[in-house]
Amino acid sequence: MAEFRGYTITSPYGNRTHPISNSSTFHSGVDLVKYHKAPIQAFTSGTVIYAGFGNSGTGLGGYGNVVLIRDRNNREQLYAHLNSVTVSKGQTIGQNQVIGYQGSTGYVTGSHLHFEVRKIVEMKPPYGYRPDKKSSTLNPIAYLNNFDLDDLLESGDSGSAVRKLQRDLIKLGFSLPKFGADGVFGQETESAVRSFQSAEHLAVDGIVGPNTNAKLDEQTTLVSKYPGIIKNGSRGDIVRIIQRRVYAKADGIFGTQTEKKVREYQQRNALKVDGIVGPKTWDKLFG
Ligand SMILES: [Zn+2]
Repeated sequence: MAEFRGYTITSPYGNRTHPISNSSTFHSGVDLVKYHKAPIQAFTSGTVIYAGFGNSGTGLGGYGNVVLIRDRNNREQLYAHLNSVTVSKGQTIGQNQVIGYQGSTGYVTGSHLHFEVRKIVEMKPPYGYRPDKKSSTLNPIAYLNNFDLDDLLESGDSGSAVRKLQRDLIKLGFSLPKFGADGVFGQETESAVRSFQSAEHLAVDGIVGPNTNAKLDEQTTLVSKYPGIIKNGSRGDIVRIIQRRVYAKADGIFGTQTEKKVREYQQRNALKVDGIVGPKTWDKLFG
């Protein structure tokens, strides 16, 4: 059968006769073979949502050892039936990074990689799984081919990927005061990208490539869920993001000055003024 990036495609995406049950089913991914225990490299960058054995009833049952990745388009990429995994939940991974080894764990007839793209991102069961596999998944090969076309975002680009980038930048406190999320990568966006790269100790080139994307993924994942009260004494990346949003010095340490800026933010946004980032203030910041 056809080749795809060094793999032999042994079963395409779509309707097929299932090799075990012999009934006609919808194959929700593509089956790819190199050789047993071949290193499996991530097709794109992303953040690991789940890594390990997929338990029955979690949306990952039957898939054996899996790595589930959230990519920059906010889709889930599932690498299944792995012999073993080499990454862990929460980890940011780069394109071509080894995430595990080809195997035959789960419901299979032989060693292969089942690669699937799920439309819905869920950080917990059922992890974007829906019984209607046809409408809840994408053709993985077409998806990856298109993914590569817009691998870089840079000045002069426009469209939905740029708008998503701009929304992410704003959410993370890199403001776009003049044009906002207008979907056009102009000077203002480039300068916000440079600020982000500088703050994250990345190469500062104003171009959104794999490293910048992976970092953006990591940070937006961080603000996607309320972690509990953040207040005087709190530390870390999430504090730095909040500090940028409230115009405090972004040093990652929630001190008196940050508390004052949070109070000012609360005042401006008609919230209860207590200097604490509780659920309501969090919602206003990131909801
Ligand atoms: Zn498969």
